[in-house]
Amino acid sequence: MSDSSPGKLASATVAVTAGRPASSPNQPMNVPVVLTSTYTASDFSPQPGDLGYGRWGNPTWTALEDTVGALEGGRALAFGSGMAAISAVYGLVPLGGTVVIPDAPYSGTSQLAGELVAAGRITVRAVPMADTAAVVAALDGADLVLLESPTNPLMDVADLGTIIAAAREKGVLTAVDNTFATPLLQQPLSLGAHVVVHSATKYLSGHSDVLLGIVVTAEDSAGIHEKLHGHRTINGAIPGPMEAWLALRGIRTLALRVERASANAAELARRLGDHPAVTRVRYPGLENHPQHELARTQMRGFGAMLSFELAGPAEQAEKVCAATGLWIHTTSLGGVESSLERRRRHGGESKVVPETLIRLSTGIEDVEDLWADLSQALDTIS
Ligand SMILES: *Cc1c(COP(=O)(O)O)cnc(C)c1O
Repeated sequence: MSDSSPGKLASATVAVTAGRPASSPNQPMNVPVVLTSTYTASDFSPQPGDLGYGRWGNPTWTALEDTVGALEGGRALAFGSGMAAISAVYGLVPLGGTVVIPDAPYSGTSQLAGELVAAGRITVRAVPMADTAAVVAALDGADLVLLESPTNPLMDVADLGTIIAAAREKGVLTAVDNTFATPLLQQPLSLGAHVVVHSATKYLSGHSDVLLGIVVTAEDSAGIHEKLHGHRTINGAIPGPMEAWLALRGIRTLALRVERASANAAELARRLGDHPAVTRVRYPGLENHPQHELARTQMRGFGAMLSFELAGPAEQAEKVCAATGLWIHTTSLGGVESSLERRRRHGGESKVVPETLIRLSTGIEDVEDLWADLSQALDTIS
């Protein structure tokens, strides 16, 4: 999975080395958790870079932002949650503007879009991410396209290169939710996206103990960075310093976690495909995934998320979720522990998602233990 190249450190190295205090004798190696609500004033008028007040900036956020910025290849801003980050991105759209989103994105992304539509703020065009022609056609006259790839939970893969190039040509602001892939497997800014968003609650933090969001802007999008920074400050959509520190602590092991969890997911996807109770497995690493070839060229690995479907009815899926021991029946994803969930149990989930679809977030446990637990749960319905 190495992406090392001459003159450029590999992502796995950046994840360990970025965001550290300048090296000098007797200085701490890690940034401290800076717990303060305010900073002493400068002697004269405020200088550029002055922190001033706790809502404007914090050295612990900065260390995290420097690290995620280096991994994505842009300038990062930390937010209080992934939804706070997505809300800030919607805030870039002018009143009455048009936004293109996936027909089945992360449920919060579509729910917030629905609220903005109901309030008369924006118009939304919801399109299937795997249908490149439909996405490109929807860009005409749009102000923002918020892509997700792979999508949560359908695991559809968007042709990022083609869509982003078309959006740039049509003057459409392009944002990509990179939560599932992480910057280790996919770097949308390098494909021309203006903005990347993360629920850092998931893989970046990695231990299911933090809520945090990140927005990263491309080097050519300084104006957008300033707007997002202004939005965060005035809306108070800020992270806590402790959360920022925990996320940075998590990122130090990101490469190891993603590598192990992805290897587990690939093996489980293969075995699930052979289980009699399973009607369909959705994992971009499988050759029968409709966008497998695209995923191969666009991603450095296929990630640790996958979904599968059962014959039904929905109760069968609920039964499987209740029958696991090692796999935790819970929402959220991206932690070291494996978890599963029938997504349609949430009323806000897109109706495009099948009733019996179970989403797996594969952790870093031993793959044989994971399979033993999952297959015995599936055996209870077959
Ligand atoms: C969880 C998630 C979000 C929302 O992030 P929060 O940190 O829960 O606010 C956004 N996008 C995707 C793909 C997610 O999985």
